[in-house]
Amino acid sequence: MNILLIGAPGTGKGTMSELLVKNYGLVHIATGDILRQSIKEGTEVGKKAQSYIEKGLLVPDEVIHDIIVERLKKDDVQKGFLMDGYPRNLEQAKDFDKILEEVGTDIDLVVLMELDEAILADRITGRRICKDCGQIYHVVNKPSKVEGQCDNCGGELYTRKDDTLASLKTRLDEYHHATMPIIEFYQNKGLLKHVNAALGKDEVYAAIVKLMEESNDQH
Ligand code: AMP
Repeated sequence: MNILLIGAPGTGKGTMSELLVKNYGLVHIATGDILRQSIKEGTEVGKKAQSYIEKGLLVPDEVIHDIIVERLKKDDVQKGFLMDGYPRNLEQAKDFDKILEEVGTDIDLVVLMELDEAILADRITGRRICKDCGQIYHVVNKPSKVEGQCDNCGGELYTRKDDTLASLKTRLDEYHHATMPIIEFYQNKGLLKHVNAALGKDEVYAAIVKLMEESNDQH
């Protein structure tokens, strides 16, 4: 099954991805993670992307296109993929259709994670991530047992450079202007389903699983 997770920053796409990957063996493709890794490794893609990410702006489409094409060449995507943070605008959504046609696969379900924006700031500024295994924490809602240290692997926890209020404002503007048009795009294809991301983690997860089962029944 191939799924897209769409939602503003802080709606819990990463947390839901962790669960879905663990329980369903889906391949997690998060363009944000790939870009941050490229920056860490100092690759050409990383150099092109860094200033955009730090400002909270979208990285140019051609950079993202190449990342997706490369990633979909790997055999593991046959297990089904979970796209997290891609596509981010209408151009990417249309381009993705072409890429999928070339690869010979399709999208089964698009999940839109909906959350009151007043809650987003709190989720984003409290987010901490493990440098080594990527596990996501929150200083209030999901603290690690030892402050600054990952429960799973003992790795150091860090705050993303773009998880500031200033950057969040730009990222939300990008979401409204660039990303929201893709909601209609997938609605028109009959693929879009809504999830209330304000619910607890288990309830949000259960809602997504239900949508996956319904989608499976239809195919
Ligand atoms: P995320 O981890 O999904 O919140 O993404 C972090 C940042 O990476 C975004 O604010 C953008 O600067 C960049 N980014 C991630 N995915 C995309 C994409 N599909 N298109 C353009 N920029 C992206």
